[in-house]
Amino acid sequence: MKEPCLNTPQGQNRTMNLLLSLEMLAKYPFTRAAKEYVSSLRIDVESLGAPEFARVYERAKFRVEEALERGGRSYEVGDAKALMDRDLDVELLSFPLALFIVAAIDDDYASRRFGLAEAIRAEVLISNERSEVIEVLAKEELGFDLKKVKKRLNKDYELAIHFTDYLREASKFNAKEWKLVNRYLENGYVYITRRELARLMRSSIERYVLTRIKAIGNVRTPEFMQEFIKEQKEKMLARKYRIERLASGISPDTWPPCMRALHQSLMKGESLSHFANFALASFLLNVGMSVDEVLSIYANRSDFDERIARYQIEHIAGMKGSRTKYTTPSCSTMQTHGLCIEGGRLCGGIKNPLSYVRRLGRVGPKDSEG
Ligand code: SF4
Repeated sequence: MKEPCLNTPQGQNRTMNLLLSLEMLAKYPFTRAAKEYVSSLRIDVESLGAPEFARVYERAKFRVEEALERGGRSYEVGDAKALMDRDLDVELLSFPLALFIVAAIDDDYASRRFGLAEAIRAEVLISNERSEVIEVLAKEELGFDLKKVKKRLNKDYELAIHFTDYLREASKFNAKEWKLVNRYLENGYVYITRRELARLMRSSIERYVLTRIKAIGNVRTPEFMQEFIKEQKEKMLARKYRIERLASGISPDTWPPCMRALHQSLMKGESLSHFANFALASFLLNVGMSVDEVLSIYANRSDFDERIARYQIEHIAGMKGSRTKYTTPSCSTMQTHGLCIEGGRLCGGIKNPLSYVRRLGRVGPKDSEG
């Protein structure tokens, strides 16, 4: 396969464009240039089942499995083989094929998990990129309003991003340092480091990947990928069944509105704040769920990492760290965090969400009112 056509007059004009080499297209398949290049090859999905594209198919399957089974962990730890195939054509073509496979799996969780894994991969590659490449990607591909600065504040800042772009990407981040009130803001621009820019870009790329999957829509699955897709669907079904079976001991119908709402958000794969995660996990543990049962509920998060989640849940359960079993935050604390539903109107003046369940005889008497 050839390099992108840099010899055409149009190509010559673009030689200055930092994103046009085959390496850049393969690294960043979400760029317009990468999409145009792949389209220009006029290879349809059916053809990718031919033996000469076997490596492309293998790489596409790897990308899907990396997302569904490992949540992009191999990318996150910087595993070079996982991040890029040595054959740049294989790497580049595997992206649209993997997108197609995920569209064919036709499962929201799979799509979200794939979007996240691909965005993590991009973030890791971007973090090791030259400044000028990062800026072109951020401005020209993702549309960030970004400018170069030189500012020494609590640290050295090289960049500033318009606050609207900053808020669009960072508003769902939980860590305090991302809150706008904790940032240096001047004339509408927020100072950020290169690493922070890569994180903001990840968020935007994740959204882009999901849009591409949705745009593919319903597909007729080519025969060569039917077995793999069936296998992936079966794994997803087994996982859902395991979650339902584990969680069936206690019905969310008996939970207070605030916990039902948090549970529903998790089931939809939405991300919760640190506090909301803590409140729900401590509630579930206090109503008698085991660590494994709580873990299975958190498995719906697209960024689920079993090792980290298990550690955090065991910590709340008092099995790690200070060995203190945490009780569920009180209703007034829940209100402060905006998590109480309808000001508690549906709960009859209780002081702790556990009391709601206790009235139904589902929680032991030693549980605190908090
Ligand atoms: S009153 Fe308490 S239990 Fe009821 S929704 Fe509000 S925080 Fe939850």
